[in-house]
Amino acid sequence: MIEILSNIKLIFFVVIFIILFIVESYYTKREWLSNRNIRLVFHSMIALINTIIIRVPTVFLVIPSLMLITESNYGLLNTLNLHFFIEGLLGFILLDLAFYWWHRLNHTNSFLWKFHSMHHLDTHLDVTTSLRFHTIELLLSSIYKVLLIFLIGMPISVFIFYEIILSASNQFHHSNIGLPEKTNSLLQSFIVTPKYHTNHHTVVKDSREANYASILTFWDYIFFTYKDSTDDDREYLGLSDRSKEFGIIANLKHPFD
Ligand SMILES: [Zn+2]
Ligand SMILES: [Zn+2]
Repeated sequence: MIEILSNIKLIFFVVIFIILFIVESYYTKREWLSNRNIRLVFHSMIALINTIIIRVPTVFLVIPSLMLITESNYGLLNTLNLHFFIEGLLGFILLDLAFYWWHRLNHTNSFLWKFHSMHHLDTHLDVTTSLRFHTIELLLSSIYKVLLIFLIGMPISVFIFYEIILSASNQFHHSNIGLPEKTNSLLQSFIVTPKYHTNHHTVVKDSREANYASILTFWDYIFFTYKDSTDDDREYLGLSDRSKEFGIIANLKHPFD
């Protein structure tokens, strides 16, 4: 069952990735300053390393935790005894809130920032950036997920559903797609759009240390961390260190520099 759901997640990921990669070619927001294919190969190599290593905590920690929760009465949702639909909706919202705070902590905590900053070293932004995460950030995120599974009492189906939507949102909001302004304004009242997340990738700290939402933008609005940037600032992305756009070793050892 879990194996099937994981494969569905992978299929969704690949299909959405290909669609967004093609759409980016026709509705491009920013000119690519470096070769698009090199970006694809480099970020795919990072994703391959991460997929292999992250399989260990997924198989030995995350999946056993989900199975244990299903067979027991631990966690908030299990004690509330709600209708399945309400339980699913609440589980989804609580997970999204938790990931808002996880992302915010990755910026405000200097230890976590060492790893998360690798994601921000990218001097451009396109769908391939959604593959760019340090392996240790993902390992720590797996431990955080286990904690959430136990605290929330997360049903397997809701967890997998959230992961699929999170992955799709992650790919969409990193994509180099220019949406019409009206469409963007309407969408970003609810969900993270490419323009919204570009604000988070500016070299300018003011908008980078804001706009933390993963799926629902609601969290930035209620915690006062939504900050719109300027068109000029949205053209200059990354960190002041411009030397590590590529290079597997340079990127993986970046937190220890
Ligand atoms: Zn970030
Ligand atoms: Zn990002």
